[in-house]
Amino acid sequence: MIKAKGYAAQDEKSDLAYWDFERREVGAHDVQIDIHYCGVCHSDLHQIRNEWFPGIFPMVPGHEIVGKVIQTGAHVKKFKSGDLAGVGCLVDSCRTCENCQTGLEQYCSKGPIYTYNAQDKEGKPTYGGYSNTIVVHEDFVLHISPKLALAAVAPLLCAGITTYSPLRHWKVGKGHRLAVLGLGGLGHMGVKFGVAFGAEVTVLSTSPSKEAAAKDLGAHHFVVTSDPAQLQSVIGTFDFILDTVSAEHDLNLYLSLLRTNGTHICVGAPSEPYEVSAFSLLGGRKSVAGSGIGGIPETQEMLDFCAEKGIVADIELISMQDITAAYARMLKGDVRYRFVIDMATL
Ligand code: NAP
Ligand code: ZN
Ligand code: ZN
Repeated sequence: MIKAKGYAAQDEKSDLAYWDFERREVGAHDVQIDIHYCGVCHSDLHQIRNEWFPGIFPMVPGHEIVGKVIQTGAHVKKFKSGDLAGVGCLVDSCRTCENCQTGLEQYCSKGPIYTYNAQDKEGKPTYGGYSNTIVVHEDFVLHISPKLALAAVAPLLCAGITTYSPLRHWKVGKGHRLAVLGLGGLGHMGVKFGVAFGAEVTVLSTSPSKEAAAKDLGAHHFVVTSDPAQLQSVIGTFDFILDTVSAEHDLNLYLSLLRTNGTHICVGAPSEPYEVSAFSLLGGRKSVAGSGIGGIPETQEMLDFCAEKGIVADIELISMQDITAAYARMLKGDVRYRFVIDMATL
């Protein structure tokens, strides 16, 4: 076994703390990565607090992982020692179902194997990226361009692909009015991709203080959702709403902002179910849809697109010891726009 160190939650009530643990040996098709940076996703906080389902503890969160390959198994073809590498939310899947066969491993019909808070094919717990090293099958490791600042690439592995994938799926681009609801880690990537794809982008935010920064990100308009006059001015105007909100909110209100045939795309994952009135949908033939992270081929496509266009996340680098304070700030919406842990501090 490989000795690893990381930060783990011992149960759903504890803060993260230093923890020594073991990773599997590097198998014939595995790559071992020395983790340099790991992004902090709101999903990490949902999961250590058991907000979605009872988790597997001790839990080492983190699924926005970048670093360097330090060891490869005998049959590894895609990577060599010294290569930059990334790992997102998935570390394996059944590989044979219709979804896996078409590059939609995130929707594997047998259930994908998530990077942490899951069990691998041998039934052993998976541990995430708040750690110095990880061992992953090469098919679930992504190539990272040296052109981009590595720490700022980390959030692309979840926040990036989670917003890129639905915008591509619904072909959001020129001629579309896109609203991004919630300007956090996912939201700010949604703005960058929406702008890059040619859409007219409006940020819908509860935080008036984010207006100037939203415009810096490329957003064309900014609407404070708690201001009735501002909200009134955008009723019936959007083709798509990309909803990245992490907490309970009223979809009916936002559905009223869609044009006829508009689509409200849920990527945020609050713990409580939504209540949607039939009348919010049938008046205007509207759709509520959802999208989960992205498959491996599309994640690589997104990373290559970002390298070509010079797109990275806007980050605040923190030390591992600052994680609890960072979670508290994330809960208040006080992050511009993604915390990334410098693993050298572990
Ligand atoms: P985040 O950085 O905390 O951003 C969430 C943003 O939502 C906040 O910055 C805030 O933006 C807004 N918000 C928060 N509470 C709100 C409320 N009560 N009402 C309205 N707006 C509120 O979180 P994140 O990392 O981007 O993740 C967002 C959500 O996506 C989480 O639930 C996460 O688990 C989920 N997620 C889903 C997937 C997927 O596969 N679909 C992947 C990754 C993450 P403003 O200040 O602008 O209002
Ligand atoms: Zn995530
Ligand atoms: Zn499958």
